[in-house]
Amino acid sequence: MSTQSEEPLDVERIRGEFPILERDVGDGQRVVYLDNAATSQTPDRVVDAMDDYYRETNSNVHRGIHHLSQEASLAYEEAHDRLAEFVGASGGREEMVFTKNTTEGLNLVAHGWGLRELDEGDEVVLTEMEHHSSLVTWQQIAKRTGADLKFIAVDDEGRLDMDHAQEIIGPDTEMVSVTHVSNTLGTVNPISDLADLAHEHGSYVFADGAQAVPHQSVDVEDLGVDFYAFSGHKMCGPTGIGGLYGKSHLLDAMEPFMYGGGMVRKVEFEETTWADVPEKFEAGTPPIAEGIALAEAADYLDDIGRERIDRHERDLVEYAMNRLGEFDDIEVYGPPAGERAGLVSFNLEGVHAHDLASIMNDHAVAIRPGDHCTQPLHDVLGTAASARASFYLYNTKAEVDALVEAIDDARQLFA
Ligand code: PLP
Repeated sequence: MSTQSEEPLDVERIRGEFPILERDVGDGQRVVYLDNAATSQTPDRVVDAMDDYYRETNSNVHRGIHHLSQEASLAYEEAHDRLAEFVGASGGREEMVFTKNTTEGLNLVAHGWGLRELDEGDEVVLTEMEHHSSLVTWQQIAKRTGADLKFIAVDDEGRLDMDHAQEIIGPDTEMVSVTHVSNTLGTVNPISDLADLAHEHGSYVFADGAQAVPHQSVDVEDLGVDFYAFSGHKMCGPTGIGGLYGKSHLLDAMEPFMYGGGMVRKVEFEETTWADVPEKFEAGTPPIAEGIALAEAADYLDDIGRERIDRHERDLVEYAMNRLGEFDDIEVYGPPAGERAGLVSFNLEGVHAHDLASIMNDHAVAIRPGDHCTQPLHDVLGTAASARASFYLYNTKAEVDALVEAIDDARQLFA
């Protein structure tokens, strides 16, 4: 680990790279942005990368002959290599498909692999804390193939019950699809242990990295996963772009998810053969500017250091948990500080999460109320909704204090 990675973040300098954080969102109030698990903000240099692309290079890819197309193609292909490297995939672009987001990565594998490989009696194992993008996708694929879904239970502290995982992952398991970090509980799941367990039974493993990749170093090879998906808009990148890592031989064997131009090798009236990965899975004109800017976002995060970002967020979440813990009328969900990633979901007794978020908004504090696309998990938690504050590299303890003050205001109003 470098010395630089030991240093705390220079948050004031970092905030200067995100002009939106200076925005007046009404009544002269500056936004306190604590909705990063939904979408993170975008630093100037990523916006500039998009801007530069449109000003200097804009052209279609797929290796046109003219200068601009050559340049755009090269930059777009290199962006795949950069994102493969960013998540520890040594195979470069052959293991990195650009998607629209994590949801598309999940759908791509569920359709491309699942529809072909799953049969009646096969089992897909998820967890009770899956995001709808995983749960609904596998649920629908299971209905179409006759496969069964099983769910690893979450214990009272918001951790996966690994004894239960041992019980339900077995010879019929074909896929274990699990979120790396829970977007509701902040739980960081033991992906390598689950991968070992799944592989012992000949199953594949898909990890949903939507809440992990932006915040911590991820190495898909160390984790031992077969597939891994993430979204650009949660990691300081643009919307409309994400990545899917897959082991090369698995992606090679999979069916395309969408058909059209750009993903073919030879087309005849009756038959078509596919281009190599990643083109095979990237039909039509791809999000070129977004892909190139995503590589810039990866550079940005690495220049700062993902260990430092992770440490900063864990520090903030610990502070937030301590502050929220001062009040008996606040229920916090998920594992204790020290074990969780930088987000916290909670409820204030007697106040619906939506009302709470609305009062927070009056204080310019942006949080997210609702089920966070984890309705079944909320059923397990015994509540329909929760309020979630989620942190990133530019957040401060003063912003956590602003959150607590806004909660206090809600408490007074509803008393
Ligand atoms: N998985 C998790 C854990 C998430 O938190 C999210 C988004 O909140 C998603 C998947 C879906 O991400 P996207 O909407 O970018 O596809």
